[in-house]
Amino acid sequence: MQVEVLKEVQSFTEEPKKILINNEWVASASGETLPVYNPATGAELAKVAAGNKEDIDAAVQAARKAFEGNEWHSMTPSNRGKLIWRLADLIDENLDELAQLESLDNGKPYNVAKVADVPLAADLFRYMAGWATKIEGSTIPISTPKSAKAQHFVYTLREPVGVVGQIIPWNFPLLMAAWKLGPALAAGCTVVLKPAEQTPLSALRLGELIVEAGFPAGVVNIVTGYGEAAGAPLAAHPDVDKVAFTGSTEVGKLILDAAKGNLKKVSLELGGKSPNIVFKDANLKYATSAAANAIFFNHGQCCCAGSRLYVEREVFDQVAEGVAGRAKKIRLGAGMEGDTQMGPLVSDEQLRRVCSYLESGASQGAQALAGGKRHGEQGYFVEPTVLVNTKPDMKVVQEEIFGPVVTAMPFDDIEEIASVANDTIYGLAAGIWTQDISKAHRLAARIKAGTVWVNCYNVFDAAMPFGGYKQSGWGREMGEEALKLYTEVKSVCVQI
Ligand code: NAD
Repeated sequence: MQVEVLKEVQSFTEEPKKILINNEWVASASGETLPVYNPATGAELAKVAAGNKEDIDAAVQAARKAFEGNEWHSMTPSNRGKLIWRLADLIDENLDELAQLESLDNGKPYNVAKVADVPLAADLFRYMAGWATKIEGSTIPISTPKSAKAQHFVYTLREPVGVVGQIIPWNFPLLMAAWKLGPALAAGCTVVLKPAEQTPLSALRLGELIVEAGFPAGVVNIVTGYGEAAGAPLAAHPDVDKVAFTGSTEVGKLILDAAKGNLKKVSLELGGKSPNIVFKDANLKYATSAAANAIFFNHGQCCCAGSRLYVEREVFDQVAEGVAGRAKKIRLGAGMEGDTQMGPLVSDEQLRRVCSYLESGASQGAQALAGGKRHGEQGYFVEPTVLVNTKPDMKVVQEEIFGPVVTAMPFDDIEEIASVANDTIYGLAAGIWTQDISKAHRLAARIKAGTVWVNCYNVFDAAMPFGGYKQSGWGREMGEEALKLYTEVKSVCVQI
């Protein structure tokens, strides 16, 4: 059954959306807009401002003024925390609206956005609200020679890094905004946020809630626009102290280059090609069902998707066919259909990308146990796909597809599997399925990845750090670790 579109959502998408600078909604300097599409139909959903360098300059100026000004700087940590908490409450109060915007804009099922994306965003802000009052330095006993006349008292201060540029992707638009904004605000930074051009709507609605919550003008500024036009000048801006980016490894490298000019701090959350390893002694029924979720959740558009499934040879057929069986039963449809389990991919570009990987796999001899092609003619749907008969050097095994496509391969022993699992430029996540706890810990220690899930997959929590080894990124989001990305440490050495 079709979910009825809320009238708030209808009116939100009717008027061209503007840019948020200094708590004011303004048109882009050029007056230009860009279209946002509904990926279930390909029809235009809304228009948003197409920001460029001029808009980024104005937003950075506002963020700088807010950072150096008195209101934000002198706000007590407790009051800063209360504002962030208030924002979380407003997200909860607008749960349905945000979930609908997310579904229409990104394509994900409304029912999923309602229980995952939106509540997790609120939860992240609440977790970070608590940190605002707990960002502390330390006192340090130093060993430089003392005399009766000269002694030293040394302490550290943990201070906000300053003006932060944050560039986010389209796979979890609201949640990625929360992952970025939460720790930055808890630390006392000011922000210019650049949402993905494909999915800017929930971040813009979040901007309205940020104003409603009572954040001082200029603390959060939101500039929509294309990557090269708006993202690149933000990453290169000489008055931005830090840039945080989530997206492709390719663009991550461009961000690094752009940041060189003023050596701004950089954190990156990039791609993945995560191994999910099933041993024959695992609870196979559960592991099979979870392996399907590990790849098909969010249509495979997860940086940590379990996209390489390795199964101990004796149970390979059983698990691979089990995952394929589940893939065939997944109900595809528009995100706003009540019984949809998997929506369309986010864009025409992403559809073409994923289909070209499917063609590449087929031409190199991979066999589809399930799926293997586009679904339907309208919208950007791809069948949930399980590929077997793959070889380690195939593109479908090596490169991030970012769609509902898993390669399933058999393996023989634990010594072999650690190096096979690590045979990728990425190191974001991994899954291990076994009832032998020693084997699980031994293997977890050998996997080069920022997160290892044992007998589970895709478990996230605001308190649990997330990020990548190798070319999956720099730095960790969430948890206490995230605060390190948004603070500088100052040693104060006092002769007493
Ligand atoms: P992308 O990396 O191009 O875009 C991510 C963000 O970066 C967007 O906001 C975009 O506007 C911005 N951007 C693009 N070019 C930029 C530039 N030169 N300077 C500054 N900002 C720039 O990702 P995409 O093209 O939307 O997707 C391509 C692939 O990236 C996907 O297929 C997937 O493999 C990967 N991806 C990974 C993640 C992740 O969470 N790790 C998220 C989205 C996409």
